[in-house]
Amino acid sequence: MSIIAWKTAWDEYSQKTIYQRVSRSCACPEKTAQSPYSDTREIAMNIYDIENRTVDELRQGYYYDPGKGYICLHCEFTSTSASAMESHLKEIHSKEEDSFFYHLLNADSVLGELSYPVKMVAYCLYKRMTDKEIGETLNMNPNTVRSHRRLLRKKYSECKVMLMLCERMNLGRQSDRARPPAPDERIPGLDADGNVIGFFGKDRVHDPKRPIPHASVLLLVAQRHEDGAMRFLICTKSSRMLTFAGKADAAFGEQLHKRWIDIEGGQCQQSDCAAIELHKPLPEEIFINAAKRELEEEVYIKAYPLDTAKPMYLYTDETGKEGTKLFPFGQNMETTRVYLVRLPDGIPQNRILVRDTWTDSVGGSITKRYPSEFVTFEELLGFVDSDDTALMDGALRVVERMKRDPTLKKRMFDMLENAEL
Ligand SMILES: [Zn+2]
Repeated sequence: MSIIAWKTAWDEYSQKTIYQRVSRSCACPEKTAQSPYSDTREIAMNIYDIENRTVDELRQGYYYDPGKGYICLHCEFTSTSASAMESHLKEIHSKEEDSFFYHLLNADSVLGELSYPVKMVAYCLYKRMTDKEIGETLNMNPNTVRSHRRLLRKKYSECKVMLMLCERMNLGRQSDRARPPAPDERIPGLDADGNVIGFFGKDRVHDPKRPIPHASVLLLVAQRHEDGAMRFLICTKSSRMLTFAGKADAAFGEQLHKRWIDIEGGQCQQSDCAAIELHKPLPEEIFINAAKRELEEEVYIKAYPLDTAKPMYLYTDETGKEGTKLFPFGQNMETTRVYLVRLPDGIPQNRILVRDTWTDSVGGSITKRYPSEFVTFEELLGFVDSDDTALMDGALRVVERMKRDPTLKKRMFDMLENAEL
């Protein structure tokens, strides 16, 4: 299997999983949203299934609840007979082996995040490839393949020992006290007039078919560098899979691999303001509170409290009635307030870290901190027409607006120059 085929399978799969999480976590009455993918009646085992089910239940794909009967772990189909459940699994889920493997392999929050090279080797082993074939497919040194394989085997041994220990500690059976899913940070949804219609799960607001209008903030975080130029903080959202493929084969990586970058920001959350009322517009202070929270959460400076950097309002951007397409998947309808943040001069870049949080295939979340990267505004503008870099929705809207409106760009630089430090 070539890296391209692997990549395609992977991307298709992750889009489907995202869609399923969306339709599963949807709390609205139209819960049975039709999937845009024809064959997505597949695996959706989540972190609560993994926490609350026994190994045997996970392996067989269903469990027994005295009140409800036999329940399918993949689709919540329920039956009073075990044999009917077995036929259900054969008829409905037997073709989903591949998807299930991807699904589990990407349960980063449970697996302790295997590196992508290790995941690729794991996939090849699943496909019954030899070390030599794996090395050729992934353009990987045979010694590296062997060391990844050894790591996987070591993990298997660890798991067996852990399993024995946990069974003897009586940690195994927890389904009797299954805890409810942790509340998502809820996002206030808006109607066409900007009035609050309710609160939604994070994934739900970007539903590809029925996106929910909502509010967000973007942060243009700037710092004057030693050469005197003002530079802007960017973050890379490129798929790590692509990054690896790009490294594995430069020529191939060039065609396939685009580095997706964005600026900091996020959605206004219910917790950003206590005074949100249904059927009324969002309170003004929700925006500045969201901007401060995002700044605090996303940008970390070692041994330097960031409480002196204040977000300064620049302008409001609307995606309009149609919204915009999101990478890699989804649709976005939002009102965005764009804020400027000027970091103090002289803080070395290696002390500035950005945080990235992502949700894995079973709905668990992982957070990591990465070294920061700054670019000049001209470089940021250049990414619009770049062959190897692409801007994500938020950054793209800001950049295109500035291209159309030089006075806004000038105002931005004036405000940054005059910011209190
Ligand atoms: Zn099922």
